[in-house]
Amino acid sequence: METHYPFTLPPLPYGYDTLLPEIGERTLHFHHDKHFQTYVDNLNKLLEKHPDAQDWPLERLVQEWPSLPEDIRQGVRNNAGGVYNHDLYFKTMAPGPVSSPSGPLDDAIVRDFGSLEELKSALKTAALGQFGSGWAWLASNRDGGLSVVKTPNQDTPLPLIPLLLCDVWEHAYYLDYQNRRGDYFESWWRKVDWPGLSKTYAALLENRPRRAE
Ligand code: MN
Repeated sequence: METHYPFTLPPLPYGYDTLLPEIGERTLHFHHDKHFQTYVDNLNKLLEKHPDAQDWPLERLVQEWPSLPEDIRQGVRNNAGGVYNHDLYFKTMAPGPVSSPSGPLDDAIVRDFGSLEELKSALKTAALGQFGSGWAWLASNRDGGLSVVKTPNQDTPLPLIPLLLCDVWEHAYYLDYQNRRGDYFESWWRKVDWPGLSKTYAALLENRPRRAE
């Protein structure tokens, strides 16, 4: 992902038919090539006429949109969020057999939730409890403490550090599961890239700023 304007659509990190049977080919084509592309295009259009924000990294746009001029404020909130969230969503799924967390992430899940099953249950409750469109997240604080949160529309949990997110907009599942958000959640859960997330989390702990004693 580019760090600032102009943003371009990153390729889907795996083949369109490689998340079958959980996530269908048509869903990935529409979700990645159409919906994600639209967020990228809309964000670029909004920033086109506002050079002051063209060097803002994506993470700054999604957090500091309230300080932007009023005519683009809400648009940047929605579309920068759409770009940020979808980039991470596609990158945190993977083809292949069901995986599981390892190393420090596995330890932290047990510490903060009790077990992987309890984390799943908390995430599912967040995913099903999000009224309308939005996201359910596993996020970390600066010290590695994990929590589950949900956000409406394209909002993010930043400044908490997002690790994993389930897209509960209907466009993420309607072609495959129609109104059955719970069935989609179960399928999405089987495609989570735990080896990748375990590496991300270990790096986050390594790089965290040390507190002054
Ligand atoms: Mn989506």
